[in-house]
Amino acid sequence: MNQIQMLQQQLEQRMPELELRPGEPMSRHTTFRVGGPAALMACPRETEELVEAVKLARELEVPTVVVGNGSNLLVDDQGVNAFVVKTVPQYSKCQIQGSEVTAQSGILLSQLATRAAEAGLTGLEFAHGIPGSLGGGVTMNAGAYGGEMVQVVTKVGVLLPSGEVEEWEAQRCQFRYRHSAFSDGKHLVLWAKLRLQPGQPDAIRETMRDLAAKRREKQPLEYPSAGSTFKRPEGHFAAALIDQCGLKGLRVGGAMVSEKHAGFVVNAGGATCSDVLRLMDQIRERVFQATGVELEPEVKYVK
Ligand SMILES: Cc1cc2nc3c(=O)[nH]c(=O)nc-3n(C[C@H](O)[C@H](O)[C@H](O)COP(=O)(O)OP(=O)(O)OC[C@H]3O[C@@H](n4cnc5c(N)ncnc54)[C@H](O)[C@@H]3O)c2cc1C
Repeated sequence: MNQIQMLQQQLEQRMPELELRPGEPMSRHTTFRVGGPAALMACPRETEELVEAVKLARELEVPTVVVGNGSNLLVDDQGVNAFVVKTVPQYSKCQIQGSEVTAQSGILLSQLATRAAEAGLTGLEFAHGIPGSLGGGVTMNAGAYGGEMVQVVTKVGVLLPSGEVEEWEAQRCQFRYRHSAFSDGKHLVLWAKLRLQPGQPDAIRETMRDLAAKRREKQPLEYPSAGSTFKRPEGHFAAALIDQCGLKGLRVGGAMVSEKHAGFVVNAGGATCSDVLRLMDQIRERVFQATGVELEPEVKYVK
């Protein structure tokens, strides 16, 4: 019996309520629709369940990967040889008190923004169209249209590598462009508290509708993808550089540089992870040769 099977056996004995899915195809859990099976997936509903399961995995030295909505993930064709903790959609309780919103990490940013709008709270409109979870958004310091998670997050509930749970002030979270203290994969976001401002529900909804229309116009939302494939290089825009090199429509197998937005690699049909990785390599090489700019992936590759 290997470590992962041992983990499964112990979880089944100690936590019969915990939903476990051995060999779950990750292509069902990534917006790229790519990726082989997770050795073992768990879908915890409660914080205690999540914490205990991760602690047990760490005791057995089984690597753990947390997955939110899989909208920034590229999973290897061979799958993930790890314990995958999936937070979306079930780990998603949310509470609003005055202008403070507290929610578990598996709530979708779109749902959170809608809840905030219903409560007459402004500040989260930018996140409504980002197809990720709160945990993924905090970890990536996700942002769009002038907004970024760092502007609204005040506190984060963190599961430390030691297994302890701490409440961190935002200043401690090392938020930078598409980066946070949680990007190391060892610190896990359990919940986050956001501070918003009072606003008019109708105006908030209108802003969200306008931003959604902008996305539909500019982004290839009709294809599976993981959003912007590369980070914005200092002083440049990745999409503009890729376009300038004439790479729109470039294909490897089922992976293609979007014709609509050169910053997106899309799954044009039947793409494998290896197709996407090979295409990303070609893009990086051609952009570097032509412009001297090194593109850094924004999507997280997991195996
Ligand atoms: C069509 C499209 C448009 C997009 N537009 C934008 C955009 O405008 N702005 C933007 O910033 N991004 C955008 N993205 C990318 C993506 O939606 C964001 O990065 C989002 O925040 C990822 O959240 P997720 O829940 O899907 O995370 P996942 O993809 O599941 O995970 C991303 C990373 O976060 C880690 N993670 C997830 N949950 C936790 C947790 N609870 N604790 C610790 N680590 C965790 C994962 O291990 C992984 O390393 C877009 C993606 C798509 C497909």
